[in-house]
Amino acid sequence: MARCADIPASFEKDLVTFINLTKMVNYKDLGLVNTREMFAKAIKGGYAIPAFNFNNMEQLQAIIKAAAETKSPVILQVSKGARNYANATLLRYMAEGAVEYAKELGWEHPQIVLHLDHGDSFELCKSCVDSGFSSVMIDGSHLPYEENVALTKKVVEYAHQYDVTVEGELGVLAGVEDEVSADHHTYTNPEEVIDFATRTGCDSLAISIGTSHGAYKFKPEQCTRDPKTGRLVPPPLAFDVLDAVMEKLPGFPIVLHGSSSVPQEYVDIINANGGKLPDAIGIPEEELRKAAKSAVCKINIDSDSRLAMTAAVRKVFNEKPQEFDPRKYLGPARDEMEKLYKHKIINVLGSEGKAE
Ligand SMILES: [Zn+2]
Repeated sequence: MARCADIPASFEKDLVTFINLTKMVNYKDLGLVNTREMFAKAIKGGYAIPAFNFNNMEQLQAIIKAAAETKSPVILQVSKGARNYANATLLRYMAEGAVEYAKELGWEHPQIVLHLDHGDSFELCKSCVDSGFSSVMIDGSHLPYEENVALTKKVVEYAHQYDVTVEGELGVLAGVEDEVSADHHTYTNPEEVIDFATRTGCDSLAISIGTSHGAYKFKPEQCTRDPKTGRLVPPPLAFDVLDAVMEKLPGFPIVLHGSSSVPQEYVDIINANGGKLPDAIGIPEEELRKAAKSAVCKINIDSDSRLAMTAAVRKVFNEKPQEFDPRKYLGPARDEMEKLYKHKIINVLGSEGKAE
């Protein structure tokens, strides 16, 4: 701001603060909700809320249509990379538009959360709180324990002033997702969870029990091969770790990241139409169904939607090489993603009809 000679410096500082405050957007004004009530109901009801990542309009349309038509609460999840890709300002209006679109589809009281996935700094989390997010994740899981506690607590103290809920993380997941990557996972230590949840005041906790980011969740040598199909069978999730965490923190909302199942139909379509995804492998849906019935109340799914989209686009490109209208390949991609989201809601997470 340019200095004005007639205004004392202290007043100018107040003015800048005031202008910044008026630029802040509270999620409640956009029609969004935080995760608190949603998670409490999910734990009691034995189901989980879908957290679908999105980067573009077609994905957002598909998520909202699937959620509205099944009346499922839904978490729209945006990573730092996705927020930069979409543009933070545009995103704020897309979220507001999503709520209005849901109503237009006949969902009278949409329960939609806008959530930051893998926030890596206080500043990023603050910026999201200030621009309409109703929930943020601060991922300090790669930091030494005490630093993770301090960073998470700082984010919680800021976010709670605006009734924005906060997800923390303990334990490290393997795999690659945007800026997050690790070679191997370290299971969450159940002995640390009470201390972490109490000292940080976080509203939910992402834990590591063997799920993993990306479409290559396990190396072939970690898996066995099904003799009939020749496909890889992944090692089971560490449900004993989950049970121990639930025993330490009864009724506390638990989050699973990296929970795509990598449907082999999509991998096959991609590979049959010029793609190259050998040995892509995910988490079996039976295991996620089991987790959804426990204190796990948020299940993150990103790769499956990327695969659905890529399979549909590749198919059109291969079968109709003369096609160059984006609606003709992004349209089928959107339909395929909607089908996938509905399948997850109805058959895996059990959240259908939970937001009438
Ligand atoms: Zn994640």
